[in-house]
Parts: sequence; C-alpha cells; structure tokens
Amino acid sequence: MNLTDTHTHLYLSQFDSDRQEVVSRAKQEGVRHMLMPNIDSHTAGPMLRVAGEYPGLCLPMMGLHPTSVGESYDTELEIIEGWFEKENFVAVGETGIDLYWDTAYLEQQIKSLERHIQWAIKYDLPLVLHSRNSLGEIFGVLEKYRNKGLRGVFHCFPGGVEEAEKAIDLGFMLGIGGVVTYSNSQMPEVVGSTGLEHIVLETDAPFLAPHPKRGKRNESSYLKFIAGRVGDIKGMDAEEVARVTTANASRLFFSY
Ligand SMILES: [Zn+2]
Repeated sequence: MNLTDTHTHLYLSQFDSDRQEVVSRAKQEGVRHMLMPNIDSHTAGPMLRVAGEYPGLCLPMMGLHPTSVGESYDTELEIIEGWFEKENFVAVGETGIDLYWDTAYLEQQIKSLERHIQWAIKYDLPLVLHSRNSLGEIFGVLEKYRNKGLRGVFHCFPGGVEEAEKAIDLGFMLGIGGVVTYSNSQMPEVVGSTGLEHIVLETDAPFLAPHPKRGKRNESSYLKFIAGRVGDIKGMDAEEVARVTTANASRLFFSY
C-alpha cells in the first residue's frame, strides 16, 4: 500500500520508549509520509527533533492547538510565528475552535484561528483545522476568506453530510480517521456521500485508534484499518483508497 498519515502526534511522550519500532511498523504497512501537527510552544522542539530523525518521512506543521489557547495565547502565537521564519513546514496547524472542553476562550480561539489563516496565506500553506462543537463558528470565520485561495483539511471531520459539502465548498478536504470504524458513527454516511478526491486519511495518533485496536494507543501502521473501512463503504480495494487518498495528500501538502 501507499499510505499517508496526514495527522499524527508521533513526537508525544507516549512514543518515547518505542518510536523507532512505531516508525518501522508504519513503513512496513506502506506509510510513506507522517505529517505532524504542532500543539503549542513546548511541543515544537520535540516535534522538530522527530522530523530531524526521519527526514522526508516525518514532516512537521506549525500552529497552536485551540485547546492550548488560554490567558497567554498572545505570547504563544508570537513564539509560533517565529518558527515560520526559521524552519520549513508542510502546513499551518493545528488550529481551529474547540468548544467541547472549554467555551471561556471562544473569542481568543477565533483570533488565534485568524492569525493562522493569515500565516497560511502569507506562506502559501494548507491549513489543518481542529473542530469540536464548533463547525458553525469555523465556517463563519472561513467565509470571510472565501476568495483568498485558502486550502486545507478538517482533521477528524466532525460533521454530517451537509456540513461536509460546506467544508468542501470552502476549499477543504475531510480528514477521515478511526471514528469511521466505530459503530454509531455518522462518518460512514459522510464518506459514502463524499467523492474520494475530497478525502485524506489520518490516525490522530496516539488517540482515536480504529477498530480492532480501539482503546489502545494509536499509531500510523493502523492506517490500513481506516483505508479498509473506507474501501468497504465505497466498494473499493483498500489499495485503491490508499492510492487516491495519498495522491490527494500529495496535491494538498506537497503541491504535486
Ligand atoms: Zn491533533
């Protein structure tokens, strides 16, 4: 298979004891690229170290996760902004709005999202969005930039069919992960009604492991279960799902 994991936090401490084995297993399963979204100023160092250990394989993004937007978010954003001058990144992210854990900082989260949008425009990079209980708010912000050539991914897409159409209309792809393998998920319906050209695959490792690994630590080698489930829904081979979604990811993140 030829897979791309468009969202893994491989640099987190959950992988400190066996990162090399995790990377080997991913390569054995055909994962050619692992894209790493940043979380905050503290994770940038570990993330860039992993990127340096696996050049061309593990590729970093830069951004401030919405659940890390708090009192000192302005200082955080300045540090994040500084990184864009020093290193190359495949995307701006992850950013977005999360109203599940905390609604107190909505205004700050919106301001942070807008700063990320400006970086995406300035550096001509895709935007990786995290959305939880917040699709309406994010769509509202993105509408303001409709004709600015924004592109990106709604990572772990949380909406229904109509919201998927809206996201695509705004220039974004849907990041599909382990949730599509869970029973009671609306993702099979969304995947069924969305053209495969609008979908990229992701693990969100170490979180959200797909069936039959649900509840365990997630890792990029499990991407095959997600490709398999998407294939079942679409009536396609997992190989074909892997091929098309990897081509989508290459177009979006590497412009080829
Ligand atoms: Zn993430």
